[in-house]
Amino acid sequence: MRQDREGHASEKRYDYGHGYVNRAFRTSRAPRRKKSPAQAELGRASLVSQGSSAGSDCHIHGVWEPQEHLYDDFLCSIAALALPAGSRSTTFRVDTLSLSDFLIRQSIIRSFLTLLFTAAAVLSPSVILAQQASFRVLAFYTAMGEPDHTAFAAQALPFFAELAKKNNFYFESTTRWESLNAEKLKRFQLIVWINDFPTKAEQRAAFQDYMTHGGSWLGFHVSAYNDESTRWPWFVDFMGGGVFYGNNWPPLPAKLIVDDRSHPVTHHLSATFTSPANEWYIWKPSPRLNTNVKVLLTLDPENYPIGLKDTIVSGDIPVVWTNTRYRMIYMNMGHGDKIFTNSEQNKLFENAVLWLGARK
Ligand code: ZN
Repeated sequence: MRQDREGHASEKRYDYGHGYVNRAFRTSRAPRRKKSPAQAELGRASLVSQGSSAGSDCHIHGVWEPQEHLYDDFLCSIAALALPAGSRSTTFRVDTLSLSDFLIRQSIIRSFLTLLFTAAAVLSPSVILAQQASFRVLAFYTAMGEPDHTAFAAQALPFFAELAKKNNFYFESTTRWESLNAEKLKRFQLIVWINDFPTKAEQRAAFQDYMTHGGSWLGFHVSAYNDESTRWPWFVDFMGGGVFYGNNWPPLPAKLIVDDRSHPVTHHLSATFTSPANEWYIWKPSPRLNTNVKVLLTLDPENYPIGLKDTIVSGDIPVVWTNTRYRMIYMNMGHGDKIFTNSEQNKLFENAVLWLGARK
């Protein structure tokens, strides 16, 4: 049986449109990389866990949720409510249901939750008194991408879940890019793309509408990938006009220059610091040339030449920036399992989430 790009075994969902073609094209531009046994194993593990049934993984790491959200995103939201006070993190599989099945289950679940809430109120007042989230974050990712990008997502999810716990915001993550729709997005102050991007027109349109009406976005690494094949000019403009041009290989640590240390996201950083091993992207033209773009971090030219198989030898390479016409930050970090090994950089991620999430 075929599998879609999320790894679901499903004939009817095998509708890549030009999205799959794009991805295939991208892969052809970036030579197939030799995978370590560990990476290959990770890829297989993801395939098994994601593809064993027609469903989607939905991760919720949050604080107390309003009850109105119960029924409109299947068990994903329901599961959040069912969490005991001490459990901030868990994983649920959401099966694809027919409408009648869904309604029946919904009714059963409604009854169950009423009972659960009553019991919780009696037995554990702290559940009911749990703090309201200060803002809501929805992260999109894929478990079926390049293994090093999957590895990043595997670490990013618990990282953000911990931040949510520490800073009292609601965090939800999903591989269901169908959730990139107006109805869902309106309930979130911040959208994060961890290691992928939408390819369907309706998802792109929903995101564009969200961002042009005050939504916030934080994107990592390949989530901003674009070239002539991705056919999304609005997004290229949103990113500041830069098109993916190349990268170093293998992933390597690099010294970064902090361009603006007065910004709330970067104020804690030293003038320069060494960022853990990453695949650094070249953008043409440099987003810095766009007067609406504020570059926060740049690859220090001292690193050049950086790479062995693919080497960056020159050029202006912004690494973190914001297009000031939107509430957005892009960070090029996001390749491999070393990204979260630097506390200064981790603080950068935290600051970005708090700054973007609190702005609305
Ligand atoms: Zn990468």
